Amino acid sequence: MNLTQNEKKDILLIVISIISVISSFILSFDYLAWIAVLLCGIPIFKECVEGMIAEFDIKADLLVTIAIVASIIIGEVFAAGEIATIMAIGGFLEEYTVSKTREKIEKLVKMTPQVTTIIKNGIEKRIPVEKVEIGDILKVLPGESIPTDGVIVNGKTSIDQATLTGESLPVDKSVGDEVYSGTINLYGSFTMKSTKSSKDSSIQKLIRLVESSSPENANIVRQADKWATMIVVIAFTAAVLTYLFTFEIIRSVTILVVFCPCALVLATPTAIMASIGNLARYGILVKDGESLEELAYVSELVFDKTGTLTYGIPKVVNVVSKNPEEMMYLLASLESRSEHPLAKAIVSYYKGNELAEIDEFEMHLGMGVSGNISGSKIIAGNKKLLNSQNIEVVEEKTNKTEIFVAKDSEYIGKVQLADTLRENSKETIRNLKRLRVKTTLLTGDNEKTAELIANEIKIRNVISNCLPEDKMEYIKNEQLLGHKVAMIGDGINDAPSLKKANVGIAMGDIGSDVSVEAANIALINDNIGDLPHLIGIARKTVRTINIAITFALIVNILAMGLAILGILNPIEGALIHNIGSVIVIVYSATLTNYKISKKDYTRAKKLGITKTINKAMT
Ligand code: ADP
Ligand code: MG
Repeated sequence: MNLTQNEKKDILLIVISIISVISSFILSFDYLAWIAVLLCGIPIFKECVEGMIAEFDIKADLLVTIAIVASIIIGEVFAAGEIATIMAIGGFLEEYTVSKTREKIEKLVKMTPQVTTIIKNGIEKRIPVEKVEIGDILKVLPGESIPTDGVIVNGKTSIDQATLTGESLPVDKSVGDEVYSGTINLYGSFTMKSTKSSKDSSIQKLIRLVESSSPENANIVRQADKWATMIVVIAFTAAVLTYLFTFEIIRSVTILVVFCPCALVLATPTAIMASIGNLARYGILVKDGESLEELAYVSELVFDKTGTLTYGIPKVVNVVSKNPEEMMYLLASLESRSEHPLAKAIVSYYKGNELAEIDEFEMHLGMGVSGNISGSKIIAGNKKLLNSQNIEVVEEKTNKTEIFVAKDSEYIGKVQLADTLRENSKETIRNLKRLRVKTTLLTGDNEKTAELIANEIKIRNVISNCLPEDKMEYIKNEQLLGHKVAMIGDGINDAPSLKKANVGIAMGDIGSDVSVEAANIALINDNIGDLPHLIGIARKTVRTINIAITFALIVNILAMGLAILGILNPIEGALIHNIGSVIVIVYSATLTNYKISKKDYTRAKKLGITKTINKAMT
């Protein structure tokens, strides 16, 4: 176990407090418990005051503080010491889970090397972003995030600077304009000269990612906080009323002691962070706790095809043209500006040969690319794209993806590419079905290819020839029908749907930076085989939290009843309540070791699709 200096200090304080409380009990010597009150109580008191001043926030801390002070006033120093100690233990366990999770995420992010393309003496090379120096000439493709601050020296594009300015409208940029590290290149491709070395910027990005993975904004956490506030009020009222009826201050203090909502406040973030930590070990990066909760209720998972279900490393298997040399020269030159897997395949097929200069490069999302080479307009893409320019082409009945090429509105040939299904695609779909999740394939590719793949992996719901808008529209309609939809994709063309979906999941490795940015969750190793585990743990997290909260509430209500009746004294009350809290926190932390098992599948089968979703809660 690697502990930080602060954690060691906390443990030491807690151990001293425990010893002082126990020996105070054994020796019946109240003064010893003061040690625990001071060591553990003062930090709680401080946080409570800070919270109230800074945020007008009435939370568990207040009740705990009142309970401690009240116990001391009526001379129950032992009870006060005990509450303070166990609160400190709970707080420590929670913080420990959180910091371990942060560590795992940091490791994960560091393992994901960020690369960029450098041009040196006319030769392009992929290098790690950290190696970029001032003055380097870099090439940035559509969908890539900009590696360092710099100035555009060739080409034009529009850039999404939302990460920098919060402004979501893309900004047009051309030669001479400044671009900033971490912002995202949308549709064009350009070369830039770096004006900063990238060391600072990539660390910046890492910190942002790690910081953004906090559970605070999950709905379920906010709910728990609301509950907590309510309970503070109830406990307070009950304490006052009991005093007015019985004139026994000891009963009132006991009520305050047993009804501290510690478990409520600590269980939820502990559970969410434990799950996020668990997923980090699987190479799954969860950006916010809220999407983990949403995922528990997801009833449909929409897949993109190329790069997601397939490896996204297509190979050119056939070139059809009267003049294949010329066509490949034009096509490869044009595609060297695109980030698309099909484009990369064509460029690498053509490797070693000279490429032409491109003017007016344009990307047609979900359709293809176009640009000017020595004054001729070259278009490359699917049937839809060429038809839109009034160029007739004939699609062959094949499971291969075809890219048609036209020069000055004249069809000049085509290439056929074949991609391989990911080995675990079929099994993943099967397991998702066993979890009662509806699976759908949305692709920009042609019908034939889409259907062949869908048949092979047994996805029944297939929609082909999708433009990015079509993918988004489909998700919107499903949502209107009451589905919660998760979308998994890798391309720039998937980014709008990743945002639209209730939960967006991006392929972290093959995926373009735009899609990773747009998504809530990233599969760093591109392993779609972990999707069932992801859904399993999301459901389990929500269930765990609900069980924990219910358990804590029952214990507290029973204990409060006994306190009102005068059966419990503050010491016993504190003991029952605090043991309950620790059980709840330890139980939540067990999510760290969750692994999807037969039980999860049986459960989904028993409950069926709608009930799985509704009852993810029970
Ligand atoms: P998917 O949804 O399967 O990931 P896309 O939406 O990215 O596919 O692409 C859909 C279709 O558009 C491709 O099958 C291809 O025909 C065409 N296309 C997309 N990008 C390019 C490109 N850079 N060059 C040629 N054709 C392209
Ligand atoms: Mg794709």
